[in-house]
Amino acid sequence: MDECPLCMEELDVTDKATLYCQCEYQICAFCWQQLHDNAAKDNTIAKCPNCRTPYDKDNIRMLEIDQEEYVECVQTPGGWGLAVGCADAFW
Ligand SMILES: [Zn+2]
Ligand SMILES: [Zn+2]
Repeated sequence: MDECPLCMEELDVTDKATLYCQCEYQICAFCWQQLHDNAAKDNTIAKCPNCRTPYDKDNIRMLEIDQEEYVECVQTPGGWGLAVGCADAFW
């Protein structure tokens, strides 16, 4: 699966390496943020669209990223950047 099931945009290398849920359902960083924004508006917690488990940032798992691909990803304008350090900016 190479597309985000929510917005149909192609998942970049970082999206593909990020497992937000234990069911390993993959979405892009944009939709991840959207789910949280929408949930915050409703005073609720964002849930996995696949298994309805509430998302918990402690459950986010990063897979190994190929180093060359990673460099490419980081240089992509508007890219998510890598991993936990960059994700921290969202919380
Ligand atoms: Zn998406
Ligand atoms: Zn799930």
